Amino acid sequence: MARHHALPPLSEVYQRLREHFGHRNWWPGETPFEVMVGAILTQNTAWSNVEKAIRNLKANNALSIKGIREAREGELAEWIRPSGYFNQKARKLKALVAFIDETHGGSLARMRKVPLEELRAQLLRVNGIGPETADSILLYALDKPIFVVDAYTRRIFTRHFYLNGKPSYHAIQERFMRECPPDAEFYNDFHAQIVEAGKSYCRKRPLCAICPLEPLPHSAEQGA
Ligand code: SF4
Repeated sequence: MARHHALPPLSEVYQRLREHFGHRNWWPGETPFEVMVGAILTQNTAWSNVEKAIRNLKANNALSIKGIREAREGELAEWIRPSGYFNQKARKLKALVAFIDETHGGSLARMRKVPLEELRAQLLRVNGIGPETADSILLYALDKPIFVVDAYTRRIFTRHFYLNGKPSYHAIQERFMRECPPDAEFYNDFHAQIVEAGKSYCRKRPLCAICPLEPLPHSAEQGA
């Protein structure tokens, strides 16, 4: 379909996904700290691999600030081996805990009290934490109202004409946050719906015919 078609509001995209998939109850993780660890471990790998790494951390009593603080980097790397890039990720987990210790006295409650923009800037200075990881931590571990952008967001909303060219992470995030209310619960479920749509339908070769977004203007030629 041509680009001049009026685009429905983003909330309509959300509604269609939500009706199709139901509420997603994200993020998988029993505690805020587990969510933070998951946000690092999921970089460049499938969630099933993260689950194995998380199980190993639990089995070794290491899925806590204290556990990671006290573990040697080498043993940490062994435990998280299933998640890939395990040496790098062990360093990143150590860096995350050092940051929580040094900047927030080892307390997630104290960390949570820091205003969103300030905390985001702090996280982005931690080794190995880029925008997507920082925002996943802010939204899913700390309930801060920030929209998480990932590759599926870029692909789906390019194919549906909301994004043109190759906008930056920040530009995409702004696009969503301009139009949607600053509501952590909404951002939480919207991102989860997008990931589900990406995994189930909007693959490299999209399955438009059976996708809940098929009635909306789109072109699968875009943003493959
Ligand atoms: S699969 Fe097709 S209809 Fe579904 S989100 Fe992707 S481009 Fe849109």
